[in-house]
Parts: sequence; C-alpha cells; structure tokens
Amino acid sequence: MSDAVAPVRQFIVAGNWKMHGSRDMIGSYCETLRAGWSQAIGTTPPPSVLLFPSYCHLERLRAGLGELPVEVGAQSVHAEVAGAFTGETAAAMIRDLGVGWTLVGHSERRTLYGETDAVVAGKLRAALAAELKPVLCVGETLDQRRSGAAEARVEQQLATAIAAVDAGLVARLVVAYEPVWAIGTGETATPEIAQAMHECIRRVLADRLGPAGAGCPVLYGGSVTEQNAAALFAQPDIDGGLVGGAALEAPRFLQIIAAAAKRGSKP
Ligand code: PEP
Repeated sequence: MSDAVAPVRQFIVAGNWKMHGSRDMIGSYCETLRAGWSQAIGTTPPPSVLLFPSYCHLERLRAGLGELPVEVGAQSVHAEVAGAFTGETAAAMIRDLGVGWTLVGHSERRTLYGETDAVVAGKLRAALAAELKPVLCVGETLDQRRSGAAEARVEQQLATAIAAVDAGLVARLVVAYEPVWAIGTGETATPEIAQAMHECIRRVLADRLGPAGAGCPVLYGGSVTEQNAAALFAQPDIDGGLVGGAALEAPRFLQIIAAAAKRGSKP
C-alpha cells in the first residue's frame, strides 16, 4: 500500500447498468436483492453499494430498493448548469431527484461520444459543484498498454480531471480504474496488473491532492464477475468494483457484494 497514513477508505461495489433495464426488471431485481441481502452482507463494516441505471429509471429503482442500503447514481452528467443542450442532463437536475452519485468519464462516453479529458474535467467540476459524488473513470486502451504507455495515459487522465477538483471537495471523489480492453470483453486485468495500476493511481492522488487524495476509494472495473471478485478485492489498493454485465443479474451482483463484504474495510 502506498500511503500508510491515509484514512480508512470506503469499500464500494457499484453496478453500471448502461442502457439496460426496464420497470419489470427493476421490480424482480430489487426483490432478489432484498431476499439475499442479509446473507450476502453478513459482516461489519458492510461495503457501500451503488447502482447506476439510466436516467429514466433512477426514481423507479430508488423506490424499488426501499429500505435496502443501496444508493443510486446517474451514468453521466453535463458540464453546464443549464442551456440549449438537447438530450443532456445537468448535475443539479440529478441532485434535484435526491440522487447523490454520478459516473464521470466512463470509457464508453470517451470513445463513443468524444468526451476528451478536458470535457471529463468539466463534468467532474459540475458534479462536485452540485454536491454529487462522482466516480471518475480512467483507463488505458489495449494499444496503450501494449506500447508501455498505460500508466502515462492514466496519469494524464487523472491530472486533467484533478486539476478541476477544489481541494475542499476531494473527500467526495471516487476513482474507478477501468482498462478499456477489459470492459465488456470478458478479459479481466489480473489482480497483479490491477493492483499495480491502483498503486500508481493512489500515488498520483496523494501527490496532487495530499492525504485526502490518498484516501479516495479506487475501484476496479472491467469484466468483474462473481468468480474473480474476491481475488481482485483482496489486493491492498483495490477498494471495490465497478461492475457492468454481472450487475445486471441480481444473484450475480449479490455474490460480488458478498465477496466485498468478506474483504471489509482497508486501513
Ligand atoms: C463497466 O461498464 O463499467 C464495466 C466495467 O463493464 P463490464 O463489467 O461488463 O466489463
């Protein structure tokens, strides 16, 4: 672990539903979570659990979750406060729903919708200003990894985004390392590869943001499953997971939550 004096870091399991889900699916998903929750959580302290459905399902999912300690978040946010941006959603609108979280800079937003590092930084700034807790996604492509540029690329993404973060708001920041080559491909980073990058990310956070930065949770994302979650969560600098495909099925997501619950908090 890179910073022995960092505060205890929150351990988080987050599910990104991408453009999946329906009102019916939400009903049965929440029932399954409710039925398996106590058995999955079991220990103290439990991990924080988050779900990121599409905007149109945020309220429905929150209502369906009811008393379950699962928070919901948006999958993206616009950098501007308001204006002529058809199809977009402002951070304050998400906050207005009582929703506390948003993803920022997911690789699908970067590659499919042209979100540059500067755009992502603007979104991060807007999310924090609206009192949302952002999960900032960073990660290299396969070409960048093969050419030995993985750490440099991730450091660059982090540096641009972090420059937009007011020092007083760092405590709300969560980072997710999601190598692009591992997202939705079934090819997970080995625990060793993931740990090495997480250590690098923690060093950058500590260097640029001080002890508060070193205390930011850093999640791993990229083909996390109920089979590989425990080995990933056992790594000292991995503070949970951002899960795509496996989070769409409640029984699988419960098993991943259970793996996190067994791991607990890290000093
Ligand atoms: C993701 O969408 O953030 C993700 C990590 O997807 P998957 O788990 O399916 O690779």
